Amino acid sequence: MISPFNQQMVSEARVMVVGCGALGNEVVKHLALLEVGLLVLVDFDRVEQDNLSRSVWFTSDDAQAGRFKVEAMAERIRQLHPSMKVLPICGDVAYDVGLGLIRTMDVVIGCVDNRWARYCINRLCMRAGVPWVDGGIDGLEGTARVFVPGVNCYACNLGPEGLKDMARRQPCAGVIRRNVEAGKAPTTSIVASIIGAIEVQEALKLIQDSRSKFHVSSFKCQDEEFTSLCGKMFYYEGQHLTTKLVDFQAWDEDCPVHERWEPIQQTVLTAETTVSSALQQLQMELQAQEITICLTDDCFVDYVLRRDNDSRHEVMLPGRAVASFVEQDKELCGIPFSGLYQHEWREITASFPYQHLTLSALGVPRQAVLQVQTERGECFVELNDKYEK
Ligand SMILES: [Zn+2]
Repeated sequence: MISPFNQQMVSEARVMVVGCGALGNEVVKHLALLEVGLLVLVDFDRVEQDNLSRSVWFTSDDAQAGRFKVEAMAERIRQLHPSMKVLPICGDVAYDVGLGLIRTMDVVIGCVDNRWARYCINRLCMRAGVPWVDGGIDGLEGTARVFVPGVNCYACNLGPEGLKDMARRQPCAGVIRRNVEAGKAPTTSIVASIIGAIEVQEALKLIQDSRSKFHVSSFKCQDEEFTSLCGKMFYYEGQHLTTKLVDFQAWDEDCPVHERWEPIQQTVLTAETTVSSALQQLQMELQAQEITICLTDDCFVDYVLRRDNDSRHEVMLPGRAVASFVEQDKELCGIPFSGLYQHEWREITASFPYQHLTLSALGVPRQAVLQVQTERGECFVELNDKYEK
């Protein structure tokens, strides 16, 4: 049978891959072979020697040099497919990828190993109205799922138990190291290639379907019937070759994660604009007096107090950077986090005392969409520092 997928749509597709580990390597392999229009890579890790047993895109030179995964991968893709547009973003999807970029994607493919990262991808995709594909691997088992705004949601599927141990990462690297030490062959790449291929196949369906905006579990495209994984979970295990397709659909109207951010208006501000200029500019652009910029997903920490002796230590960093700041600080290292009080700002107004700081210093990424409150209501503004001009 001839491929039912339309080449033009694939060549124009804009795809973001989050996570460049074993699964991400396989997903990117297919997307590069398909030569999708734009491939955005997101990961904050560096290449390590252990990665080489399950990653087609990395070399031992990358591991020795400790290169960032996204940079090594982008370079190889450009060597193989010089005409392909690749955008590497070295950072954490939870904080470092602007919603303005995400909302231009046709599909986001998650290749991450923990619930928190999935929760964050889901939150961003729901805000942006972009469907996303999730994949997970564990030993000889793997799963793939598809989430479509308005139809099903990762957070709604988690339930209270899942939300509780959200931060637990599947200890993929540790398991692999112990296997190798015990003389077991590293088979991660096998499951990764099966699940990665399913993820890309489902992404292709979403791309084909994106213009019709059907986003249902089965749809027709170019006279072919398709069944989408939307609302279902594909399960595979390699020991006995079991595969299952189970229902996996939940959409709770009260879920706080669903809020679609719209309409979004453009501003001249960038992440390098200072707080004082940003507030003034927003007053003009939004024709409002009272401007509050909400740091929706993180906070800004100006200082921490030691609970034992009340000594104050200046931090001046986004909340996500405080733990490593404390670890590296001579006077604070060794003090448990519970022994510190963290002074946070979540709302930036005219009374914010550090008006000279840039939005980026507060943790706002490039091409972010700011959630702004005014006396006339809430609005969303997209920063002007686009990755593509
Ligand atoms: Zn939900």
